[in-house]
Amino acid sequence: MLTRRILPKLNLVKSSIFKRSIMSIILNPTGQAMPQVGFGLWKVPQETCAETVYNAIKSGYRLFDGAQDYGNEKEAGDGIRKAIADGLVKREELFITSKLWNAFHSKEHVLEMTKKSLADWGLDYFDLWLIHFPIAQKYVDPATRYPPNLLYDVDAGTMEFEDVPISETWAEMEKAVELGYAKNIGISNFAGALIIDLLRYAKIKPSVLQIEHHPYLTQPQIVALAKQRGIAITAYSSFGPQSFLELNHPGAQKVGLLLSSDMITSIASAHGKTPAQVLLRWATQRGLAVIPKSNSQTRLAENLNHLDFDLTEEELAQISGLDCGMRFNDPADWPGQIYIFA
Ligand code: NAD
Repeated sequence: MLTRRILPKLNLVKSSIFKRSIMSIILNPTGQAMPQVGFGLWKVPQETCAETVYNAIKSGYRLFDGAQDYGNEKEAGDGIRKAIADGLVKREELFITSKLWNAFHSKEHVLEMTKKSLADWGLDYFDLWLIHFPIAQKYVDPATRYPPNLLYDVDAGTMEFEDVPISETWAEMEKAVELGYAKNIGISNFAGALIIDLLRYAKIKPSVLQIEHHPYLTQPQIVALAKQRGIAITAYSSFGPQSFLELNHPGAQKVGLLLSSDMITSIASAHGKTPAQVLLRWATQRGLAVIPKSNSQTRLAENLNHLDFDLTEEELAQISGLDCGMRFNDPADWPGQIYIFA
């Protein structure tokens, strides 16, 4: 009952623009359709990124989730251009997301860096432009180092912060919409209190909140808050520790893998699906969008095509019961006890 009360009805539709089997979420305030399943570009190597994006489009992906920080915007753009040139897709059938990095939050840099990202992708506009983290870091001239990295001094392993409030950055994000650089703007890794504050002054409300979300971190309060305020949620790291193992994250090494857990594998075999499809369906049935990443053609197809079955209420609750507040990507750690991925 509680779940029903805090999770209002979803704005989920079948959009004629995207693949018929993929549901879309209607975004506020623009009314634009965002595919519920997309492809994440973090850690997709530059050398293979264009080909991966091209193949993903061929498999039916229409949403790509990039970021300045991922260092592969040019290559992702190459893959898109080839797909358009080969007649696989039109620009308006794609939904491209990218993210402003922490070093570019000040009013002098937001628009200039938005234009740089667009030029790197070879695009005229983003469908969605996000503030990657609600933390302003010291500016790094792209001519010196791009992407800038989480560390200001990479050799010394230190960070530097900048006194830029989110209100300043958001006002520039709004200008990006006014200038036609972005259709929708949004936020990522924002906590509830920050969202409430942003909504007080935002002239253009955030369309999307992107957060870490998996069965070890179900975040019911922020999910409810976003839904109540009409903000769509995109879940990242849907497979939990899987993505962080390769970064030697100590937490990821301690907790059990979700993809091979007894509970997830037995639910998967009950439905004749893979564990990855169960984890993604658990999130999409909660009304969230997902952006799994894979460099393998088979997994990429498996992840996209997971909307053709439903988990039972009991299975949804069982999976949500794995929540242990395990966060792998926590900006709150940065200013003090800084954990740097190896
Ligand atoms: P993910 O949960 O998508 O996991 C990726 C890992 O799972 C990889 O090791 C991959 O090989 C494996 N995998 C993928 N499909 C599989 C399958 N079907 N079976 C078995 N293993 C499979 O993790 P992620 O990359 O952390 O998150 C997805 C995307 O979210 C990123 O690419 C990025 O676009 C976005 N993201 C955003 C932020 C943010 O701060 N906003 C942070 C992290 C990730």
